[in-house]
Amino acid sequence: MTVTTETTRTGHSWQSLPAAQQPEWPDQEALRKTLAELASYPPLVFAGECDQLRARLGAVARGEAFLLQGGDCAEAFDGVSAEHIRNKLKTLLQMAAVLTYAASVPVVKVGRIAGQYSKPRSKSTETRDGVTLPVYRGDSVNGFEFTPESRIPDPERLKRMYNASAATLNLVRAFTTGGYADLRQVHAWNQDFVRNSPAGQRYEQLAREIDNALAFMNACGVAPEEFKTVEFFSSHEALILDYETALTRVDSRTGDLYDVSGHMVWIGERTRQLDHAHIEFASKIRNPIGVKLGPTTSVDEALTLIEKLDPELEPGRLTFITRMGAGKVRDHLPTLVEKVTASGAKPVWICDPMHGNTFEASSGHKTRRFDDVLDEVKGFFEVHRALGTHPGGIHVELTGDDVTECVGGGDEVMVDDLHQRYETACDPRLNRSQSLDLAFLVAEMYRGQ
Ligand code: PEP
Ligand code: MN
Repeated sequence: MTVTTETTRTGHSWQSLPAAQQPEWPDQEALRKTLAELASYPPLVFAGECDQLRARLGAVARGEAFLLQGGDCAEAFDGVSAEHIRNKLKTLLQMAAVLTYAASVPVVKVGRIAGQYSKPRSKSTETRDGVTLPVYRGDSVNGFEFTPESRIPDPERLKRMYNASAATLNLVRAFTTGGYADLRQVHAWNQDFVRNSPAGQRYEQLAREIDNALAFMNACGVAPEEFKTVEFFSSHEALILDYETALTRVDSRTGDLYDVSGHMVWIGERTRQLDHAHIEFASKIRNPIGVKLGPTTSVDEALTLIEKLDPELEPGRLTFITRMGAGKVRDHLPTLVEKVTASGAKPVWICDPMHGNTFEASSGHKTRRFDDVLDEVKGFFEVHRALGTHPGGIHVELTGDDVTECVGGGDEVMVDDLHQRYETACDPRLNRSQSLDLAFLVAEMYRGQ
């Protein structure tokens, strides 16, 4: 009966509010069936794990830990292979090892992984050679291929997203707890990077220090369990609200709602309207929540977001992911941080140095300059240092593969190289070498504080 459908689909407060960036599914009946099926599937993560991450982020908010959040702009179904996932994880763990040592604080590791399949777009159509089709919205919605069939939103893809996320998470859990991610192993990979890449050689001293620290502990007979396994969390943008709603469950321990599609979810720059569905949804779930803040964010908006999403001012509940652009961060960030701090709130502040620095190269590729990325992180550190607040972490788009999507970096990628391995389905990512480069440089910045 339609009444039941309506109740299910409008049973939550956010479902009666306007939601930006939602696909126009042509077959509503197919969508309804898919969502009912998804709602019966097991959780991908446990509520207790989300609480654990919230506690870890609480330490970041207090200035006692650093957050490293990274992964693809858009995961793709054909990227769910052991090799891709391993390379990405390996890169993130290598970055984390460097940051842990240099900053002498725990690094909370969160992937943009196992659910990052949906993309907000600035235009709803794409035109090529006079042909206009619906824009690609991520593998969870339609196909990347530029044909009318492929661009039709297909709810079956929501199930594929669930399955791809489950397979990815399963492998991530195996890698991070099965011995593969042992810190000594991760350090050996970093030594390879330092030895074998011209970019890496600049970091020889830091790598040697880490080596000495590990050798010292070894000589003392210290071999902590913590070296053998790694705590790693998943995150993605909570964009397609029908999917996130189907995966939102009541926690039997507390009666609270959790979105069990990932440990942390964030609301993007294009869907954070204060009175719209995405913010309402985020306010009702107990997961740690991120919100992207671009250069036009006003103090009032930031304060209202805190009021709605973190009324209890619970450290670790809310992460502000600022993405101002290298040219704007020093002008726009200080007032926001200052006024939010003055209000008594203590969100986690992290820097996304990617999304404010995208431009189109002469070759037509969407790209970013490594130097701009680095400069935005520098600006972010400067602002927090001046205000006495904690630069809590970085949020980056990266891959473990040797792609050529961003220009610059130690093993320099030139504009003319972009076509060589330009594989992203959406925004340009740092490749493995550029990511490690960034980690060493951020580590030096953190030390210089
Ligand atoms: C993204 O993180 O891929 C993204 C679309 O970011 P933003 O919402 O900050 O534009
Ligand atoms: Mn992106």
